Amino acid sequence: MQDNSYTDKHNMTDPDSEEANNSVETDATVVTPAQTAATGANTAAQLSTDPDIINPHVWKILMDHGYDCVFTISIPDRIVHFEHITVDHAYEAIYPDTFLEEIDYRSFCDTLRPHVVPEEQDPFSSELELDHVCDEIKERGDFVRTVHMIVEDERLSKSVRIQSNIYDDNYLIGFIYDISSSLDHDWMTDEYARFGFAKKAGELLKDSADDTAYSLIYTNIKGFKAINELFGEQSGDMVIFHARDILKSVLKPLVIGRLESDHFILITEDANLTKENLKILANQTYTEGSRQYDFTIRCGIYHLTRPTPSITIMIDRARLAEQSIPNLEGYSYMVYNDEVRAGYINRQQLSSDMNPALEKDEFKAYYQPIVDAYSGKIVSAETLVRWKHGKLGMISPGQFIPVFESSGQISILDKLMADKVMSFNSNRCKNNKKIVPCAVNLSRVDFYNSALMDYLIELYTNNPRAKDCMRIEVTESAYANLESNASVYLRRLKELGVKILLDDFGSGMSSLSTLEGFEFDTVKLDMGFIRKIGLNRKSETIIRSTINLSHALNATVTAEGVETVEQLDFLKVAGCDYIQGYYFYKPMPEDEFSDLLD
Ligand code: C2E
Ligand code: CA
Ligand code: CA
Repeated sequence: MQDNSYTDKHNMTDPDSEEANNSVETDATVVTPAQTAATGANTAAQLSTDPDIINPHVWKILMDHGYDCVFTISIPDRIVHFEHITVDHAYEAIYPDTFLEEIDYRSFCDTLRPHVVPEEQDPFSSELELDHVCDEIKERGDFVRTVHMIVEDERLSKSVRIQSNIYDDNYLIGFIYDISSSLDHDWMTDEYARFGFAKKAGELLKDSADDTAYSLIYTNIKGFKAINELFGEQSGDMVIFHARDILKSVLKPLVIGRLESDHFILITEDANLTKENLKILANQTYTEGSRQYDFTIRCGIYHLTRPTPSITIMIDRARLAEQSIPNLEGYSYMVYNDEVRAGYINRQQLSSDMNPALEKDEFKAYYQPIVDAYSGKIVSAETLVRWKHGKLGMISPGQFIPVFESSGQISILDKLMADKVMSFNSNRCKNNKKIVPCAVNLSRVDFYNSALMDYLIELYTNNPRAKDCMRIEVTESAYANLESNASVYLRRLKELGVKILLDDFGSGMSSLSTLEGFEFDTVKLDMGFIRKIGLNRKSETIIRSTINLSHALNATVTAEGVETVEQLDFLKVAGCDYIQGYYFYKPMPEDEFSDLLD
């Protein structure tokens, strides 16, 4: 097979010959290696006719380093003819000698099938049915699939591409192209991607000294989204490069790779994981012109044990450790341990406990009154969910909301809260009792749930008094993240007269552009700001100007988390309209709130 790797029916191996020179014009089915390797058919044809520029041996090398095989398919008689087959002993089993002759298309597929990984064999056979291929080419212009093959115990990724032959409708041209190495690498940083990392790490660990301690690290750039939003994606990219360089110089990894977006994975000796080094990673500054942004590279650390579990498990554990780092200042890394594991099992548990909890009515609506800053009178309330878990007792939303958000269950809960608010206020109305509008919290995930959104829109449409009973609170990041989804629904709700509140204003980084993009009725100043009253002059200035800005944009302002009289006094002078916080009221159960209103 080696010597005949170029089939010679069309004399393609000899570009000097007349036939080769004319091949493009005279024989529509001919594909020279040059044509297939270069994208522009014209240039390729030119090059291939001039042996002084690139001779056939060079073409052969080029082909061998990319294309496993290039073939044409005659559609009427379903025959495959091979134009090129790579010279490599490893491929001999896959592309056998029979491929030197013409074979029928079905046998071609049947010969390849056993080399495809087992789970892909059936789809491989059915997808590559010639009629199916032709249909797809007619519809989309080409047929492209990635299949995985095992070659000498190595799993390789192959792109199978079949396209029409513009010179003759009766023929198709096919390529099988090895894309393993491009899949192994991350296109952006050129470090390993997940698969390449796993391969390399596996090799390294096999050869590494048993008495040296290693760890696998999963990183997360805290504040990355803010950098992207503030400075643009290009700056975000620069931060990724910056992070990679810092990680390399500080942790001296044996192997490093990038998973998606700002997450790197690496293996390093434990000796490199000193407090000082981790502190350097925690205190990074990105500078662009005169602008500066501080960010933290957070590390989830998994100490390797022998025998090591699979790379996937190690990455999962390091990631879990990273996700368990408390969102508090001064925390930037976490080592995977039993506690982290228990936290994870807990989260799984919470998620599966939701349905029984709904049946047992364990989710309660609590109400936190919001008062007028000047009169101290209750003008509205925020509805906050509480879970009275049968076994675990009272669980705070901070624990279960993120779990339900990532599992998608949050929308069930938010709908439940909306229903509870509506029935609470409707009942009071019926009994001629005072009502105040109560705001329900919508999670960013809710905007992906069209059923919930339609439900709310219908509720407000069919019940004109609903807008006096219930308002909607969205977080700044929900709005910034989901520009299109969120804004479409929020605009429709606003058209129906529903008041929309912007929650946690000032906790993210995109505040001002958020305000400009949508006309919110109320801006809720984040607790983090309020805490700095009396402590930080700069924050006080920001609060004052945020209140003025909101007023200029026709929005009222509610301060959240007001706990002291000093905070209240400052906010009154600054012109803040409403106050929510323990200074006046804590969140309370429905009957208590009901009594309070009475
Ligand atoms: P949030 O929307 O910012 O709600 C305000 C949180 O601040 C509440 O915590 C409230 O109890 C607390 N808070 C109010 N005043 C003070 C104060 O003076 N001092 C202090 N230290 N805290 C105060 P909670 O109820 O634990 O809720 C936490 C977060 O969980 C909420 O933050 C909200 O993002 C989310 N959440 C709560 N209920 C729901 C819900 O029904 N649906 C959704 N999607 N999220 C909810
Ligand atoms: Ca809220
Ligand atoms: Ca809030």
